[in-house]
Amino acid sequence: MANTENPQSPAGERSTAPAEIGVIGGSGLYSFLDDVTELRVDTPYGPPSDSLFLGEIAGRRVAFLPRHGRGHHLPPHRINYRANLWALRSVGARQVLGPCAVGGLRPEYGPGTLLVPDQFVDRTKSRTQSYFDGLPLPDGTVPNVVHVSPADPYCPVGREVVLDAARGRAWEPVDGGTLVVVEGPRFSTRAESLWHQAQGWSVVGMTGHPEAMLARELELCYTSLTLVTDLDAGAETGEGVSHDEVLKVFAANVDRLRDVLFDAVAGLPANGSRDCLCTTALGGMDPGFELP
Ligand SMILES: [Zn+2]
Repeated sequence: MANTENPQSPAGERSTAPAEIGVIGGSGLYSFLDDVTELRVDTPYGPPSDSLFLGEIAGRRVAFLPRHGRGHHLPPHRINYRANLWALRSVGARQVLGPCAVGGLRPEYGPGTLLVPDQFVDRTKSRTQSYFDGLPLPDGTVPNVVHVSPADPYCPVGREVVLDAARGRAWEPVDGGTLVVVEGPRFSTRAESLWHQAQGWSVVGMTGHPEAMLARELELCYTSLTLVTDLDAGAETGEGVSHDEVLKVFAANVDRLRDVLFDAVAGLPANGSRDCLCTTALGGMDPGFELP
């Protein structure tokens, strides 16, 4: 239920928890916030990518988690995605914003495009994709076999909030599209890139899966924000993608990406008044373990 008595202080489950909202993104997003507190969290799946960095934006308590660890030492396929989402939920976050860098698969999605996908395609190969993998947790509990639907993998409310936030900053976003997630750390060959384009997919990245799916399994709201840093190999005619180019474009856009993220944080509903499919993703099924 919404707290109508004091809208400045969103009520709901765990309203005294350290965080309400999680943002999975690097230090460029929180380094200038006042009073950032570092919090180390462990999980049954091992440690997350880094400490959580707790700060406040527009009266909302936010936990930032550097996806690749500080110093960016974790490649996409080595990220402990399960620990990351678990850690965010364990400190109270129920809504997660996941910005990431992607390659554009269409000429019109050039560097600097902000695309808010509504679908993903999984082309990863070696990642643990689920909390329901049948293996016992360290405390001996064994997860049940649970099948969660990713038919619409992103939070519809979070998507609208992010789209509004971008428009409010005069950064017209692309509303919808398919994020194809590849294993990495290599970029795509031209043949792969042309194939991705031919399928009608929009952007290609390395971290969107299993992040969104794991959030869904924990009944978290998850919204992906993809920032195009380059045209993928099949969509351009030059030398292909370089890591330097990606970093340069990301740095050039980090300020406005942060503005959009912060406005989105302010615009997300209170955790206790979430009203979207994410909140019932398990459909009442017993996961076999207690959600954090
Ligand atoms: Zn949701």
